Amino acid sequence: MAKSKRGVVLLMTDFCEEWLDIYKESGLDFLGLHTIVQECNNDDYIKWANSDEVVALIKKFEDAGITVEHELHNAYSLLPRGFFETSPYMFRENGGERTDDYNFCPSSREAIGMIEFQAFMFAKALGQTSLSYHFWSDDKAGAWCSCERCKGISSGNQAYIFSEAVLRGIRKYNPDARECYLAYQDMKAKDVKKNDGLYLEFAPIHRVLTEPITAEANRGDRELLLDQMKYFDKTYILDYWLDESLFSGWNRANISELPDLERIIREDVKYYETLGVEAITTFAAYVDSDYFKRYGKENIIRYCKALAE
Ligand SMILES: [Zn+2]
Repeated sequence: MAKSKRGVVLLMTDFCEEWLDIYKESGLDFLGLHTIVQECNNDDYIKWANSDEVVALIKKFEDAGITVEHELHNAYSLLPRGFFETSPYMFRENGGERTDDYNFCPSSREAIGMIEFQAFMFAKALGQTSLSYHFWSDDKAGAWCSCERCKGISSGNQAYIFSEAVLRGIRKYNPDARECYLAYQDMKAKDVKKNDGLYLEFAPIHRVLTEPITAEANRGDRELLLDQMKYFDKTYILDYWLDESLFSGWNRANISELPDLERIIREDVKYYETLGVEAITTFAAYVDSDYFKRYGKENIIRYCKALAE
C-alpha cells in the first residue's frame, strides 16, 4: 500500500514562503488552505486564492511536488443567504422557524439544486489542480434542519445529503472530481448508501491531544473513525496536533508556543497508517510569519518531520 500523503492545513493568513521551506526540509507533500469565515468569508477567499501573489505561491508548492487543496466551510455560500427573503423554505428550520444562519433544508429540492450549481461555480472559481474537494457544511454543531420532512434525518445524514449535492455539482465541472464527507462535531454518517465519489475526512476536534489516539481517553474518536470508514473507500485524517487556533481558543491574543506533541504525532501517524488512510493532516492555524518571528521554526520543523516520516 502506498504511503499516505502528509501535511498541514493553514489559514490563508498563515500561507507564506516560510512554510514552503518547512515543507522542503521536513518532506511534507500535502497542503490544505482554509479560512475562518468570521475572519474572511468564502467570496473574499476566492478573490484571495485568485490573486497573482497567491496563485504564484501555490504554484511554487505544486512545483515542489506538494498537493494543494482548499478546505472550506462554505454551505452558507453554496446556498446564498440572499435567497432567504424570497425562498425561506430552502433554509433550515429551527424551533418551528426558518432561519438563514447555517446550512439549509435537505428536503428542499430547490436548495439542493442551488448547492449543486454553486458547488460547480466554486470549483470553477477556485481553479484547484487536485480533483479532491473539501466543501464542508457550516462550522456549527447541531445547526441542521428540524422541519417536518427533515426531523427524522440525523445531523450526520443531513451532512451526507450536502456532500452528495456538492459532488453532483463539482462533477459537472470535472467528471473525475470527488468530494469529502466531513465527520466532525455531531456529524457522522449512519446507514447511508456508499457513494464512490465521496471520501471520508475525519476531524476529531474533541480528542485528547496529550494522549495518543490509541489511548483509552480517545477510544470514542477511534471507534467513530473505524465506524465511519465502513461507508467510504478512502480516508483523510484531519487532526489538531499543530492547531494553534485550538490551543489559543480561537483568540489571537492568547497565542503562545505550541505544546510539544512530537511523541503523540509519531504514535498517531503510525496508527493511522495501519488503517490504510490516504492522507494524514493536521490543522496548523495561526502558525504564521508572526509565530515564526516569535518562536522560531525549529520546533515546527521537528513536528513536521514527525508527521512526514
Ligand atoms: Zn428541512
